[in-house]
Amino acid sequence: MTETDPYSREREEMVEFQIRARGVRDERVLAAMRKVPRHLFVPKDWERAAYEDRPLPIGGGQTISQPYIVAVMTEQLELKPQDRVLEVGTGSGYQAALLAELAGTVISIERLRDLADRAQQNLARAGITTVRIVVGDGTEGYPPEAPYDAIIVTAASPGIPQPLVDQLAEGGRLIAPVGPRECQDLIKLVKREGRVEEIPLGGVCFVPLIGQFGWRGEESP
Ligand code: SAM
Repeated sequence: MTETDPYSREREEMVEFQIRARGVRDERVLAAMRKVPRHLFVPKDWERAAYEDRPLPIGGGQTISQPYIVAVMTEQLELKPQDRVLEVGTGSGYQAALLAELAGTVISIERLRDLADRAQQNLARAGITTVRIVVGDGTEGYPPEAPYDAIIVTAASPGIPQPLVDQLAEGGRLIAPVGPRECQDLIKLVKREGRVEEIPLGGVCFVPLIGQFGWRGEESP
């Protein structure tokens, strides 16, 4: 515990007992999660709960995901230092901060401007300056910077938006929660020789991905 980082012990325990103990072994991912100050990405009222084993509210009816799920999704992206990554669903900016530790270029799209602005502030407070946040409908991807070596979708849709599959590079990995509104399957796609292999990773519960190729507000697409 230091004066400047009162949560360093909580963060270390989060990594050991919630993440490594459950089978996440990628040392680069574990190091990034030890380094990024998650408490700077939650609202002040929730700061003391930042390292607990659960998602937390961040405003606008949205959440910062449970640390273990963030770790699993990040590990499955198999990031290399030079990779170009697209995140759909910036939320608090925490996942984007981890991506910035692990990859070369990080673009993150958020549909709610308030959250995008707050995420930008959170990233600045954490000293992370390399994430580019875009306000828009991430179900359309972000064609100006495509193709991407990795795409992570942090909100759930009934199917994987086709524009994201199209914007995945050869050899690229995409992780997304897919299924009904309440709880879904976490799906990994790998693009090889233009074909897409689909790997199920287990059950999750995410907020809805709302947009042209996701859920349409309260309606199904
Ligand atoms: N990755 C985030 C973090 O580290 O805090 C958590 C994301 S939260 C579970 C899901 C986010 O996806 C919300 O902020 C929500 O507004 C956003 N979202 C939903 N539909 C979207 C869309 N079509 N494009 C971009 N963002 C979207």
